[in-house]
Amino acid sequence: MDLSNITDLMRKTQASIDEKGFLFKSTDAVVNAVGSDGIRVMMESALTARDRVGVQDFVLLENHTSEVAFIENLRKRFKENLIYTYIGSVLVSMNPYKELEIYTKQHMERYRGVNFYEVSPHIYAVADNAYRSMRTERRDQCILISGESGAGKTEASKKVLQYYAITCPANEHVQTVKDRLLQSNPVLEAFGNAKTLRNDNSSRFGKYMDIQFDFKGAPVGGHILNYLLEKSRVVHQSHGERNFHIFYQLIEGAEDDLLRRLGLERNAQQYQYLVKGNCPKVSSINDRNDWKTVRKALSIIGFTEDEVEELLNIIASVLHLGNVQYGGEDSGCSYITTETQIKYLARLLGVDGTVLKEALTHKKITAKGEELMSPLNQEQAASARDALSKAIYGRTFTWLVNKINDSLAFKEESFSSKNASVIGLLDIYGFEVFQNNSFEQFCINYCNEKLQQLFIELTLKSEQDEYEAEGITWEPVQYFNNKIICDLVEEKFKGIISILVSIPQHSPSFHKLADGKTRKVMGREEFRLSHYAGEVNYNVNGFLDKNNDLLFRNLKEAATQFKNSLAKLMEILMSKEPSYVRCIKPNDAKQAGRFDEVLIRHQVKYLGLMENLRVRRAGFAYRRRYETFLQRYKSLCPDTWPNWDGRLVDGVSTLVKHLGYKPEEYKLGRTKIFIRFPKTLFATEDALEVR
Ligand code: ADP
Ligand code: MG
Repeated sequence: MDLSNITDLMRKTQASIDEKGFLFKSTDAVVNAVGSDGIRVMMESALTARDRVGVQDFVLLENHTSEVAFIENLRKRFKENLIYTYIGSVLVSMNPYKELEIYTKQHMERYRGVNFYEVSPHIYAVADNAYRSMRTERRDQCILISGESGAGKTEASKKVLQYYAITCPANEHVQTVKDRLLQSNPVLEAFGNAKTLRNDNSSRFGKYMDIQFDFKGAPVGGHILNYLLEKSRVVHQSHGERNFHIFYQLIEGAEDDLLRRLGLERNAQQYQYLVKGNCPKVSSINDRNDWKTVRKALSIIGFTEDEVEELLNIIASVLHLGNVQYGGEDSGCSYITTETQIKYLARLLGVDGTVLKEALTHKKITAKGEELMSPLNQEQAASARDALSKAIYGRTFTWLVNKINDSLAFKEESFSSKNASVIGLLDIYGFEVFQNNSFEQFCINYCNEKLQQLFIELTLKSEQDEYEAEGITWEPVQYFNNKIICDLVEEKFKGIISILVSIPQHSPSFHKLADGKTRKVMGREEFRLSHYAGEVNYNVNGFLDKNNDLLFRNLKEAATQFKNSLAKLMEILMSKEPSYVRCIKPNDAKQAGRFDEVLIRHQVKYLGLMENLRVRRAGFAYRRRYETFLQRYKSLCPDTWPNWDGRLVDGVSTLVKHLGYKPEEYKLGRTKIFIRFPKTLFATEDALEVR
């Protein structure tokens, strides 16, 4: 075996070697480590590795328009536990459904300050890249994480946060902020996540978190915006699903005397609000341990014992409320049959029992300028009770987020600089299609529609901006623009939200609005939207619950409020430089190693990945900074080897001319070379190999 070739061989197999986790710094180290037989084995396996592991950037696929090739590449990599792949700078992430040894401190170190293309794709690379852009360009960043429920968004956002917590500079104050940032997760998850059919730890709210950094790049504060908590879950869960984790954590984990004070029993089956899904225990969840984690997190964030007690009083009250039952009189009025619950509720909420009973069986109406209490029948009273539970829980959640924000607030006196820059993290639940889609799905999907619009606009825009910055001309590409759907939802006067708010008395036929056609399968009370991700029928029945004016009033406010808060979010995101993480769920069974092609193809489609790739490839498929390009290929030209002394652009120009690049195959920008076709780059890579 000729050892002089090892350096070369190592270089040309660098990508695959990197990916498999061996990184040898020098030939000597290799020889010492494995001996010459070992080297032969290693080289052989490294050479076949490239075939086996696919390409680490979809842009390098030979046939970039082929969905089959795209999926094949995902499959190859998934099989090798390579869950990350790029489309240019967009990170595609597959949920492995098992713990991988790729999130260690050493891995973090490996990505620190290193260029995107020099190491294998990773969420840390995205985190690091955003951080470096923020530091060097002084521009606020955001990392947008999308994908359907169970695809790994929340895990990805936690990895980003951990990366900053570990790698960013710190002092004593900063350490407190880091701890609080990290501990906000278990708290928010306890109150905002639940076991669903798709995900044992499904976030039932959308979250946008700003991490603020001082001029030294240390995290000094944070702020959380929450969206659309799925409040209906408090009173009802579908079969196989649970209520929010905190209820079970409290019942399983709380000390005996705390439970006694709250009037609770250590048995989830006792509580109406916890039995609907018939799923009190989940094998992947340890409620008792989680309770400890949450209690600790609450105190690290700075909740006092009194505040925690208050919080738990409210959570317990919701459970008691759920057990309030009614009887009906012949007159139609209702009365409460469960005195014990009223007793506990009165105590925990600090209200008078009689007043509470009246509130739970009557509604306030205004007649001729006077306020009167009008009795509710049994059914109405039960839905008023549920509405109250939802409202209480919703407000508690908002209170909790506000408290966390107070604790994360950037405290100027502790830090040296006012002009902090920001990295935002968006983890918002993805497109949802159920058998019966109601108001909540409508809001979620509308939100995703907006995010997709933003994605299209920004990726195209950033492509364009880059060409412009580099002084390169290009032809704009045609792409599917979903603005029409967004307009349909949000336009003044004739948008769906406006219509919802203005005609409560009957169900309008939105389906005509949505696509100009009527389809026969649709029920009278449904409308259908052709979302970018596919068609969804919405049932307006639940939207416009006429029996419950309280709920309806809320809905009106909610719909407009939501539209406004979403508009605000879009504004925040637009002002920042985005990075994208697109998460894919490999199967519905939450199982490791299972690649369900149909499911994956669907996600590739609705995440718009093929389109993304097309845009990326429409202009110049590949771009590299001059220094990176020269460093990698300088050995291929006698004039640039071993070093080029002149201007970088001249060195690159000399090099590519020597390699026989034709003028139409590449362009030289201000700092980067742009290569139109991947095959040009492949040929260059091959040249490295045959030497
Ligand atoms: P989403 O937020 O998109 O609904 P999650 O981030 O909660 O999904 O992920 C669902 C589950 O999948 C997690 O609870 C975890 O078990 C698993 N998972 C997701 N990402 C990873 C990862 N990178 N490594 C290991 N397991 C993961
Ligand atoms: Mg989530």
